[in-house]
Amino acid sequence: MLTLFRSVFFMVCELCGKDVTFCKKVMIEGVLLEVCTECAKFGTEADKGRPNLASPQPVIEQRLERREKRQKQRDVYSDGGQEVLVDDYAALVRNARSRAGMTQKELASKLNEKQTIVSKVESGTIRPDEKLVRKLQKELGIVLKESPPPEVDVKSTSSGFGSLTLADLVKMKEK
Ligand SMILES: [Zn+2]
Repeated sequence: MLTLFRSVFFMVCELCGKDVTFCKKVMIEGVLLEVCTECAKFGTEADKGRPNLASPQPVIEQRLERREKRQKQRDVYSDGGQEVLVDDYAALVRNARSRAGMTQKELASKLNEKQTIVSKVESGTIRPDEKLVRKLQKELGIVLKESPPPEVDVKSTSSGFGSLTLADLVKMKEK
């Protein structure tokens, strides 16, 4: 009884000739074949009819890529347009201090800070905190903070689809 059962359900893959218990009907190069699941990958499942001509995969990938870029932009500007410390704050402080004819120690005492703090700021080892920035700007008459460039705001607005209403999107399309 078991033998009969087995012989009925034991099949041979028409492509690779392997004995299998389960065969899939697939179209391979226009021929309908009963093959094993391995070989079925080379064809199109007959049940589903037509083979996959234009796979939608590239489109999806493009969209994912674009979404990723938008998220990256959002991360970069997540400070929300606040003023940021300029990159060359160290040189600015150093130059302004020497223009004023002060030593690091003199500047430090005016700022009510340790000389090592001034030294580290001037070498770029530490970034001055909000309070120290204000004191440095006042004492040296320099600007250590800057607003992000204006085009950043435009980008972060247009990339923030999450906060746009449907009406906004329609408006954007019309442009
Ligand atoms: Zn096979």
